Amino acid sequence: MYSQHLVSSFGVAAGILKNYRRRLRQGKSCGTPFVKRLMMKAENQAYKLDRTEGMVDLPIIAGCHVKLRLVVSRYHRRYLNDGTLSLGSLTVLPNRVIITFRKEPPRPIAACSVLSLDTNERSLDGIFVDGGGKGDGSCVQVKAAFPEVAVIQERHHERRRKLQKKKAHDRRLTRVLCGREGEREHHRIDYRLHHVANAVLEFAEDHKSAIVLEDLRGMRPTRSKELNRRLSLWPRRKLHQIIEYKAAWKGLPVIKVDPRYSSRRCPVCGRIPDSRMGTEFACECGWHMDRHINASMNLLQTAISKGLEMAGGLRFSPGAFQHDVVMTLYEPAMAARSEPNGTSQIGVTS
Ligand SMILES: [Zn+2]
Repeated sequence: MYSQHLVSSFGVAAGILKNYRRRLRQGKSCGTPFVKRLMMKAENQAYKLDRTEGMVDLPIIAGCHVKLRLVVSRYHRRYLNDGTLSLGSLTVLPNRVIITFRKEPPRPIAACSVLSLDTNERSLDGIFVDGGGKGDGSCVQVKAAFPEVAVIQERHHERRRKLQKKKAHDRRLTRVLCGREGEREHHRIDYRLHHVANAVLEFAEDHKSAIVLEDLRGMRPTRSKELNRRLSLWPRRKLHQIIEYKAAWKGLPVIKVDPRYSSRRCPVCGRIPDSRMGTEFACECGWHMDRHINASMNLLQTAISKGLEMAGGLRFSPGAFQHDVVMTLYEPAMAARSEPNGTSQIGVTS
């Protein structure tokens, strides 16, 4: 076999082993690592791609090449035609071919405003502070709502529950069907999260904004099992991942900050009232604000105290907040499709 392929097979095996070792360390149950799916990976020196024709030339042994004609859509064309993207690895699976592209990250732009976002189950809520060159800029509320994501999660959970009941006699079938349900759920949620991320980043790009997000790592819901499932962190982490890589692609700085106390602290006087809050945060000092917006203000303050470097030395004072202005970055009506759409399966990664 073409010796280059051996090198990448080592890489794949080492990756599987690494996962296996991690599971062992964490004390999770795991059998002998085993590759179920037929796959092949080739590094960029080990294959050729004709970018205009969309033809992959994959050498197997001396004198024997496999040629694969790719189905090239307008979406793929965008990346194939972009000369700044260099070729990464090729992965061949039974039903598809994955080609990765590499891009040198552009130099981060000099931000002149900040978009601070608090990530919630159904929306990103936050504030946009415009430096305006003087650094004492105005401050308005922003919102990107994705209520459908929670609805989809709920619906698929319900379906899986029913499947498990109905097919209780056949565990193999249950697993296959539930797996398929899960995949569909991920596709549908991903599709929407990409739309949200695109809208947010378009706004950030237009206004040359740095983006402040909470660091969701290490956050562990600890309430009831039912509530944990409902408030699953997965879509939020996924949304952050999408925002981060798209921001890197555009050269927009993203600052992740520790979210501790962000929902409970008063951004004006720093007190941490211990009473349970409704939808509104209220403090003894007289400050009151929507709970989510308040959290995003705290995130921004943490980011500033951490030494967030802003053009013109951005100052943020909650007093400059314009209460009556809400900018909508995204809402479901802006999507190509909206819920309910029980049967569609859309796998879009843009
Ligand atoms: Zn206060």
